[in-house]
Amino acid sequence: MQPTHPFNVFRFCPKCSSPKFRVSGERLLSCPDCGFQYFINSVAAVAALVTDEKGNLLLTTRGVEPHYGKLDLPGGFVDPGETAEEAVVRELDEELGLKVKSVNYVGSSTNEYVYAGLSVFTLDLAFRVIPESVEGLTAMDDILDFRFYNFNEIDFNQIPAPSIREFVNQFFKK
Ligand SMILES: [Zn+2]
Repeated sequence: MQPTHPFNVFRFCPKCSSPKFRVSGERLLSCPDCGFQYFINSVAAVAALVTDEKGNLLLTTRGVEPHYGKLDLPGGFVDPGETAEEAVVRELDEELGLKVKSVNYVGSSTNEYVYAGLSVFTLDLAFRVIPESVEGLTAMDDILDFRFYNFNEIDFNQIPAPSIREFVNQFFKK
């Protein structure tokens, strides 16, 4: 278990500040003083597979930590109350100004994403996205840059997230 796992990070009850907040199940922390319980669940995230007319895959360059400057697929966390499809449409607009024609679910993979010293366990959902157009896109929000890659141009060592590596690999295998 990583030092960033919630079991190793959360030391006080977030409700009553009790120092007795402790591990009480496989993925549960409980407070014996106030009864508060915290379950460690997966957080949903989306990744978009977008190609140009030649079938080259759009990868972004991350502009935020973790893994600043490394390669990623467009996407991000699903907001509370949002569907995964809505998150794909929103993220592509925010990151690239890309308008979506269709979104189709491809598959899922998991990842442990360390942010600000805490592990977040994500369920990453991949979607094949047909864009209205790939002309005039702009890198915005939390990405530095983007470009379309054929398989041989991709350095997989530059893709830090195992789930994203898997999505990219599987995309080109088909
Ligand atoms: Zn408490």
